[in-house]
Formats: sequence, C-alpha cells, structure tokens
Amino acid sequence: MASTRTSGTKSKLASGKVYFIGSGPGDPELITVKGKNIIADADLIIYAGSLVNPQVLSGAQKNARILDSASMTLEEITREMICAARQGQVVARLHSGDPSIYGAIAEQIHILKRAKVPCAVVPGVTSAVAAAAALQKEFTLPGCSQTLIITRRAGNTPVPERESLQHLAAHQASMAIFLSTSMIAETVNELKQGGYPSVTPVAVVYRASWPDERVIFGTLDSIVSQIKTARLRRQAIILVGNFLKDSTGGRSRLYDGEYAHGFRPARGSWRTGMAVIALTAAGCVLGKKIISAIKEADLFVPAALATGKNGRIYGYTHFEQQMGLLFQTYQSIICIMATGIAVRMVAPYLKTKWEDPAIVVMDEQGNHIISLLSGHWGGANRLARKLAKLCGGHSVITTASDVNKMPALDLIVGELAADGFERWKLTPIQAALIAGKPVGLYPQELSTIPELQGVPHLFFYDSPDKLCSSHCKAGVAFTHRKDLPVANRDAFLFAHPKDIVIGIGCNRGIAVRELEAAISAVCKQLDLPVSSVCSLCTIDKKKQEPGLLTYAEARSIPLTFFTTTELNNVTIPSRPSFHARRVFGVQGVAEPAAMLGAPGGDLLLKKVKFKNITIAVARMPFTQLLKNYRERAQE
Ligand code: SAH
Repeated sequence: MASTRTSGTKSKLASGKVYFIGSGPGDPELITVKGKNIIADADLIIYAGSLVNPQVLSGAQKNARILDSASMTLEEITREMICAARQGQVVARLHSGDPSIYGAIAEQIHILKRAKVPCAVVPGVTSAVAAAAALQKEFTLPGCSQTLIITRRAGNTPVPERESLQHLAAHQASMAIFLSTSMIAETVNELKQGGYPSVTPVAVVYRASWPDERVIFGTLDSIVSQIKTARLRRQAIILVGNFLKDSTGGRSRLYDGEYAHGFRPARGSWRTGMAVIALTAAGCVLGKKIISAIKEADLFVPAALATGKNGRIYGYTHFEQQMGLLFQTYQSIICIMATGIAVRMVAPYLKTKWEDPAIVVMDEQGNHIISLLSGHWGGANRLARKLAKLCGGHSVITTASDVNKMPALDLIVGELAADGFERWKLTPIQAALIAGKPVGLYPQELSTIPELQGVPHLFFYDSPDKLCSSHCKAGVAFTHRKDLPVANRDAFLFAHPKDIVIGIGCNRGIAVRELEAAISAVCKQLDLPVSSVCSLCTIDKKKQEPGLLTYAEARSIPLTFFTTTELNNVTIPSRPSFHARRVFGVQGVAEPAAMLGAPGGDLLLKKVKFKNITIAVARMPFTQLLKNYRERAQE
C-alpha cells in the first residue's frame, strides 16, 4: 500500500541524497527496516527490475516516481538521480541482495561524487547467504572450512588470473559462485582442475527466497547434466564444498571406527549412512523404534514432530526438498509412507541401479516392508528383511534371483570387483543362471561363499583359461589378466578384483593432488586401474594428515593405520629408510604398511619415491577378500 509521507519521517532523511539500498535476495521481508523506511520516504525510486522483487516497492509514496533500471544506461540512471537530488528529493536506488556484491555501485558513486551529490549505502542480505539459508547450511563448518570465497567465473567482466576458479579451488574452502550458472560446465572443469575431487558436493540454488526457489543438489561430476536437464541459467548461485555434506544431518563417517580400520567397498559415491523419513505422527513412532535398533540411522520427521532431545532426529519443513537431499546424500533410505508418495518424490533423481541409494518403503504400522529400489546392489532387499524381523512385518522382495532362490551375482561381483567392469554383462549372465544354463566362475575359492553352494549348474575353475575353454555358456572371472580368449565375449565378464593395497609414507602437508598423481602413476606402471585399490595403509602418526584423509574419503577407500611396533615386525625387501628411522623410529612405512594391509599377499611393487611421498603396492589374496566379503554380508 502506498503511504503518504509525514514530515516526521522525512526529516530523519537528508533530502537531496541518493541511498543505495540492498533490497535482499527476493523475499520482500528480507529487506532491512532502514531500507524499507527510505523507500517509504523516497521521491524517486530506481530499481533493478530483473532481480529486485517489485513487492519491496509496496510501501512507496503514491506520488513517488518509480523507474526500472533494466532498460536504462548508466548515464541515464545517474542523470535522473543527480537531477532529483539537486531538487532536494530523496532518491532510493534499489539493488538486489547486497549492493557491494556485483552491484556495480562503484561507477554510480563515482559519477555522483563528481556531481557533488551526497550518497549513502544501506546493506542487504546477499543471495549467497540466502542460498545457504535455503539449504540450512553453515559455510564455516568446523573441521571442514573456516573460509567463504565469494566469486564468479570470468564472463563479460574479466576476473584477474590469480583469482581464477582454478586458483581459488586449491583452497578447498566453501565457495559461493555468482553469475556463472550459464557457464556451469566450464565452472566445474576449472574447479576440478584446481583440485576439488570430482565427488565434491555442489548445490545450485535458483531464486533463493522467492516462491519458486529451486535447489539442485549433486557433485562436481553430476551437476552439469542436472543443471542442463533443469534448464537453469540465470538467477542462480552455485555453492561448492564439503560444508554441503552435512546439510541433511548426516555426519561425516570419516572418523568412524569402520572407516579407520575396517574394509569397505568403494561404491564410487560419497553417499553414506542410513536415513529414515516419516510423514505422520504414527510414522514418527515407528521411525524412532527403527533408529533405536539401527544405531547408524538418522530420522527425519516434520519439524512440528521433531520433539525431544535426540541428536539423530531432524525436523524438516519442505518434504519434497528433504527427500531430494536424502536421495543425494544417503546410501539407504527407509520411507515410512505410501509407496506412491515415495515413488513420486524420488522419480526426478533416479539414475541407475549402480548409483541410486537403496530405498525401502513401509507402511506406518510396519506390516509391509517393500524393497523398492537397488534391491541387490544397494542392499535394499537385505534391509527390508532386517526391518521385517524388527517390526514383525512381511518383507516384499521382487528381484528374480531371490524369487527363484538363485544367488545374486551382481551383488557378489559388486563387492569383489573394481569399479569400471562391464556391468551390462551381468544381466545375461544372471539370466543364464536363472534359466539353469551352465555358468562358470573363477577363482575356485568363490565356492566357499554359502550363496554359491548347492547350485548344480554353477562350476568353479582354478584358472581363467580353464573357465574360457569349459562348456559353460556364461561366466565371471576375477582377474587382472587381459588376454583371455573366449568365444562368447558378451556372456563372460572379466573383472579386476578389488585387491590392491597401497602403502604410503608421506611428508607432512601432502597435497591431495600429489597423492592422486603418485597413486595413479604406480597403478599405471602395474597396468591396474586405480579403482582396484581396496585399502590405503600408513603409520598411525598420520591419522590427522588432511591430504590423506581427504583423498581416502573422496575415493571411499578405507585407511588403515599401523603402529611403530607393527611396522617394525615385518621383514621388508628394501633397505631400511634413514629418514623413517629418524622421524618415527621405524624401518620404513610404505613397504611394511602395504605388506601388513595384505596379509599373506604379494608385494607387487617395492617402494617408489616421489617428491613428498613414497608408495609400495601389495596384493591381497583372494581368500582374504572373501573373508572381508563374508564379514560385510553378516552385518
Ligand atoms: N548483489 C547481488 C548479486 C547481483 S549479481 C547479491 O548480493 O545477491 C546477480 C547474480 O546474483 C545472479 O547471476 C545470481 O548468481 C545471483 N542471485 C541474485 N539473486 C539471487 C537469488 N535470489 N537466488 C540465487 N542467486 C541469486
């Protein structure tokens, strides 16, 4: 509503002055009280029509002159302001967000000063913080980053070379990137080149605080196609950094015991943990029961129901948005709701059974527990059975191998093989198994897996060549060999076993990039894919080494630390290291750590020295891989 000026308020403001006002990111309530008062008093208002919400003008005087600067040149804008000020009028110049950030006020102030017109700046809420608010995130998350970099990619306005995204990315600080969504592919490339691992989380927030606000959440690897699909170009801000990871309440599992000492398969995804999400009061009750039995699960409930003091219960305000966030960050999600709702909510995010999280849907009474998505690979079948036991309900499993009581080869291969194998071959191989055709496996030790026992048409071989020349119509061999001859290539999968153990000795402050380059170099030398690395091993003095921890987490490779005594008890092939003895009192780090990480295995590569890092490579025996597999299967 237009208000009439009262001489009382007017007198507070200097007439003949120009006020640059930050009008906030969009929500008209996000302007400051001061900014609002000046608008109510202004004779001339010039606003940036493309980004400023016209609703902030609702308090203007009836007879105020209002101009949209979108179609005006700098000279026209400043001429209007100078003329009005010289007539003793109050001038309000409205900018989006905060005027000091990409507001182009410097050039206007310069012209006003030359014309001796006084001016003042009233700050506003920048869209960077509105975007963080939309996501309920903290840029300065302790243990993650204490720095926020506000920047943009060079466009029409050049950016100094020392501030290129590539240079800034090296800091791995939290970043808010303006004016760059239309160049998302270039932006992502430069961030990656600068050192951000490709699994770094990214959120693009479109029209933060407007009614049509949208959030697209992904990783540096996924965001380009997500943004192209969503067709977002303007009025969006790109947030990058690990501070985004914890937004769902999911905590970093980096320091959990299972990561520090155990063996975990790399899923090629940074999703971790389990989330339970409920919609109703009865659903919340069931959710609480589930999280009290499954200690690693976090519960999400409508904000009004998030009562009581339980650090693992989180309230949400936007259900749809919350489901999107859970999908992008958790490894398994239990939805206590109607199947239709769950399907609709996750539909926009679905990719492949190899990437999507496990999704289980259950009714709020816990009667029917449906394995909805990623039954085998993601573990939804296993989870549904576990929940059925817990709630006394029935699990609903529809995958063919389970119905036919046949082993799920994709699960077994997924656990034991290095990423990058020809996944599509698993479908015909599994089909052959279900159809009762002879299927062969290498190595022989696989016959110790209980699920693979008692299937009459499943054959085990002690050499991959024997498998290739057998009567089997399909088969899987875990081998690093590449030269295997087989007639029907499409039905035989040769997968690298995930059995490579890397022993690492490094200087303090090792850079992630150097670590990545050194590990890639030794793998290349051995002609093995980096994805076959199943374990990184080093000395316990390196437990807080940031580069090492970041690399291990980004690649989802477990890190194992050994004590000085353990390292000294191994017989190593190389001469003891003078440096290691002087600094840590050990004969060496890389070689003994690799050998300890692969008990009973072979040392494939004696220590290789790089500038700040020494690496040795060992191979875990297949029996040890199977032992780890069985332990995981029992969890
Ligand atoms: N002074 C403004 C920035 C103006 S530059 C501020 O402090 O926010 C314009 C750029 O700001 C856009 O390209 C976009 O990157 C960002 N932006 C402005 N409003 C936004 C909003 N509501 N949501 C997301 N990004 C926004």
